[in-house]
Parts: sequence; C-alpha cells; structure tokens
Amino acid sequence: MPSDMTTPKNTSEIHLFNTQTRTVEPFKPIKDGEVGLYTCGPTVYHYAHIGNLRTYVFEDVLRRLFEASGYKVNHVMNITDVGHLESDADEGEDKIMLAAQREKKSPWEIARFFENAFFEDCQALNLKRPQTVCRATEHIAEMIEFVKELENKGIAYVVDGNVYYDTTKFPTYADFARLDLAHMQEHGRVEQDHRKRNPQDFVLWFSQSKYPNQIMKWESPWGIGFPGWHIECSAMASKYLGSQFDIHCGGIDHIFVHHTNEIAQSEGKFGHKWVNYWLHGEFLVLDQGKMSKSKGDTLTVSTLKEAGYDPIHFRYLCLTTHYRGQLRFSYESLEAARNAYETLHNKLDDWATSAAGAVSEADIRIAADYRTQFWGALSDDLNTPVALSVLWTCLRDDRLSDTAKQDFFTSTDAVLGLAGAVGTELTLTPQQQKLIEEREAARARKDWKRADEIRTALDEQGIVLKDRPTGTDWIVKKLKLSPNPSGLTHS
Ligand code: AMP
Ligand code: ZN
Repeated sequence: MPSDMTTPKNTSEIHLFNTQTRTVEPFKPIKDGEVGLYTCGPTVYHYAHIGNLRTYVFEDVLRRLFEASGYKVNHVMNITDVGHLESDADEGEDKIMLAAQREKKSPWEIARFFENAFFEDCQALNLKRPQTVCRATEHIAEMIEFVKELENKGIAYVVDGNVYYDTTKFPTYADFARLDLAHMQEHGRVEQDHRKRNPQDFVLWFSQSKYPNQIMKWESPWGIGFPGWHIECSAMASKYLGSQFDIHCGGIDHIFVHHTNEIAQSEGKFGHKWVNYWLHGEFLVLDQGKMSKSKGDTLTVSTLKEAGYDPIHFRYLCLTTHYRGQLRFSYESLEAARNAYETLHNKLDDWATSAAGAVSEADIRIAADYRTQFWGALSDDLNTPVALSVLWTCLRDDRLSDTAKQDFFTSTDAVLGLAGAVGTELTLTPQQQKLIEEREAARARKDWKRADEIRTALDEQGIVLKDRPTGTDWIVKKLKLSPNPSGLTHS
C-alpha cells in the first residue's frame, strides 16, 4: 500500500472560533508542535445524556485533528465528583449527594459508578481517553492552596466559614460572557445568599452549615467543608497544563457561569491571560426542548441501544452538524446517520477484497485534491459536515480505484473515528469461533441448511460472515458493548 496516500497528515493551518474574541483565529501553539487541551468533564451523578456526549464528540474531533496535523496533544479532563450544586450559581444541593440519597448509596459509590458508565459510553463512541483524567475529590489540597492565594491577594473573602470570590476585584469579569451586569442586577435572579457582598460573587469553599448532610467533606483553614465547582477546574487545569495553556472547551452553557468564573479565579491568581483559545459546542436539543439530567427526561447511550442503534451511529450523526450549530435530535436523523454509516461500512468490507491493486498516477492526483478539500474543511474551525461530504464525493468518484478510496478513507478516519470502532481489533467469543468452524464443516458436507442457520444466528449477534475464495472471513456489524452495570434505578 503506498504510504504517501495513507499518512493521516494535515498540512493546512488550523483556524478556530475563539469565544474570547468571537472570531475565527489561526491557531498558534504556546510551544511548537504541542497543544495543551482542557475539556470540562462530566458531573458523575447520572448517566451522560446524548447532549453531553455531543460535546465530547466535538472535543474528540478537535483533539484528533491536532494529532493528525502532527501535534502532540496533552489532553486533560476533570471528573466532577463533588461540589456541583443543582444550580451552576451556588444554589440548591450537591448533585451527587442528592443522587446518593435517591439511590441509597454512598456519594463515593455513585461517583465511581457513573464515572465508569461515562467511560463505557466514551468507548462506544470511539472517543480517545484523555492522557490525564483527574477527579476533584483527589485534588482538594490543590484547591485549598488556590483559594488561599486568592484570599492572600485580597480577591476572596470569608463569611461564616464560606469563602467567596469578590468579582469587583476582577474588573473584566463581565467581558468573557459579554454580560450586562447592571441589567442583570435590575432584572436578574433574586439573590439567595445574604453573605455575598455582590450578586455575582461566587463560592470557592463551602463550610457553613447550609448543607448539613454533605458526606464528602474535608478539613480546610476555613472549616470542614467542600470546594465550589469552578475552583476544581482552575486548580486541576493549571496543575496539569500550567498557568497558561492553549485550549479550553465545554458546552455553550459553560460560557456563563462556569468559564467566566474559572477565568476570574485563574487570571486573578496568575495575574495574566490563562487560556489562549476557548471553544464551546452548541447544544443538542430535542423537539420538546432542553434535556435535563436532573429532571430525568434524558436520552442516553442505553436508550439509543434499546431502540436498536449502535452508539457509533450517533457519532456519525454528530459529525453531520457543525459543532457551533444546534443539533436537533430525532430518530429520523439518527436513522439517516445509521444508513450512511452502514453504507460506509459495507464499502469497507467490499474493499477488503477489491482494494488490492496498486494506485495509479491519476489516483494520486485526484485523491490529492480531495485531501486538500477534506483537511481544509476540518482546519476551517472543524467543519465536519463539509469534510463528510468531501469524503462521500470521493467515494463515489468513478475515476478512482478502490485502493485509492480505501487509502483516502483510512487517512480521514484518523479524525472521523468511524472505522476504528469496526471489526479489526474486536475478537470473537469462543462460542462464535466454534460456530464458524461448525459452519465450515457443514459447507464442506454441503449441508446448506445448517450453514445458513449458523449464518443467521451469528448475524443476530452482529457478526457478518463473508465467504471468500480463500475461506470465511467475518466482520462486526454492530459493536458488542458490555451491558450497563445494573443495580441502580433512576426516578
Ligand atoms: P455536565 O456533566 O452537566 O457538567 O456537562 C458535561 C458537558 O456537557 C459540558 O461540557 C456541558 O456544557 C455539556 N452539555 C450539557 N448539556 C448539553 C446539551 N444539551 N448539548 C450539548 N452539550 C451539553
Ligand atoms: Zn470546568
């Protein structure tokens, strides 16, 4: 196979829409050839819903684009296993503690259970695991140090054992989310916490008795308590990526309050710009409106599987919409994604036998055009819908040999991440292996009925048999995922 066709190398300059400036900017790394990437991770009190997962798919594509462009990406993701209250703005109770009460489990059990479930979902969607996954509960000392420094600098104040960030000490507080503070104060929420000096101030450390049932708590200079949600990301991102790094991502709901507060904390502490590029994914919405984990009206990977879909179909669906556009989810659109994915899959399978020849000069020339278009689209602020359409045009181009098409697809898949979920590294169970052998024997004695029965049985398990002149091959039609660990119910 000619290596010049398959190398997944992007040579276009990457441009990204930076929320900070609201413009598309050329990407310039802090350190040549490297990218420090922080993505806000899940709050592990429930299964991730497909909206959350849409955001993680966008972040995975971003990381893969950099890797396919020759960068070494250092990807860090937090696990919020304490401190995220029902409202992002310090109101309500800790989401994990509420789930623990509901499920009659300890908060630690809840957090580990849903963290595992989250990474199973990620695997099903072919999301690369971050090099560093850091749990909030394992970084309390770093958070306390961070808060102490803010206090020493006079940016934080203590009332009744709670530590608050004084937003008036950070004059650019409103800039990131383009807030109109005066208008918000006049028409905004009724402020609940009378300890706050200013309505926008937020909690860095809770230790007063507003949450007497909090089980996860730690000693601190201000009393026994637990950290605020925003300080978690500031402390962990700067521990692993430094006081200035390249890219920070999340969903658009994080622009205000979470990322606004992260910037105030980190720039307040370091005294300089913290993150160079802020990227935010738009929401996935349902026809009936917003999904809410806490209300329980969510679609999860399990829901999709129960409806007969493979999670990878959902990954394909995510790629069909630009990450900055809303994705209106429907089963019709998921069905269309499944059909496209299966067509692609069948092509892959066909190429396994047909794409053996050498590529011609014409192949190289034509594919080079497609490659330029494909990488150009992705490098233009991750335009996955255009990249996919370039892929399809290439695959339908009669001028190209199957070998060239297979090579092109292989190189693009470094970012699309569709084929990696299929076939090759998955293994058969011993029972499936035995059935294939039994079928070979049935074919040898011309027992076509038994051979067909076995084919059907395996097909139902997602294993498709291909009889080749050289013997019987198999491919995996549907990913085999371990069933969700049972034992927890959700109201
Ligand atoms: P959470 O577990 O609630 O902290 O959210 C995890 C990630 O999902 C964050 O980056 C959120 O911004 C993002 N997110 C939440 N709801 C949606 C949605 N409906 N569509 C897309 N992303 C979402
Ligand atoms: Zn965060």
